[in-house]
Parts: sequence; structure tokens; C-alpha cells
Amino acid sequence: MANHSGKIFPTPTRETAHYWEGCREHKLRLQCCVSCGKHQFYPRSVCSHCLGDQLRWIEASGAGKVISFTLVRRAVSEAYKADTPYVVALVQLDEGPTMMSNVERCTPESVEIGMRVTAFFEEWSEEISIPKFCPI
Ligand SMILES: [Zn+2]
Repeated sequence: MANHSGKIFPTPTRETAHYWEGCREHKLRLQCCVSCGKHQFYPRSVCSHCLGDQLRWIEASGAGKVISFTLVRRAVSEAYKADTPYVVALVQLDEGPTMMSNVERCTPESVEIGMRVTAFFEEWSEEISIPKFCPI
């Protein structure tokens, strides 16, 4: 396991715990609204589309496309310095919601808008696995 000390670790909350448990099992989970059928990310207590409060969890395909990205050459802190250069991308999942994450397992210069990607998980600790994306 790579050293991730000093990096910003997420803290699961009551609303996000099921999501983070899924990541630990290498499953990307989204909420789906029972009322309108739309998916959302990040996890919330109500639907971001219709404010419905009946939400169920689904396992997303993990597939999506890059809709925006930036290439980071100067790390935000010492903890990320070894990762540079790295890509921070906005990925639109096939289910609809967008997620911000890294695109890896390819050269940063090869990332482009519209690129098809799929999720993988990087284990940062016993509790936290971070979803990232790579080209399909
Ligand atoms: Zn809804």
C-alpha cells in the first residue's frame, strides 16, 4: 500500500457511510430516487432533483466519460508532491451524476474530453478506498 500520510482523508458520515463501505468492497454505489428514478452523487438525505426522501442504493457500472479536467503539475501540499503531474477530472457516470476524481493508469497528457473511463479503487487505509478512474 502506497504512503498516503498527510493526504486529505474523507470522514464517513451517517449519509455517506454506505457509500464508503461500498468503496471498501470496490463497488461504486449511488443513490437512486424512488420518486423520480434519477441517480445522485454525492450521498444526501433527499433527492437533489425532486426533494424526494425515499432513496435506495444501487451499484453503479463505474463507467463514464471525462467532461472536464485539469493537469496538476504543482502539488497542493507536500503529501501530493510524488503524485505530480496528475489529472483531476470531472467524470459523468453513465447513470448521470458527475464525480470529481483522478484519471490514472495512463499518461496525464493522453486524457481528453469525452474519454471513456471506468472506476477502480485505491486503498488508502483499512477503512478508506478512494474511487479513481482509468481509460476503458
Ligand atoms: Zn427524485
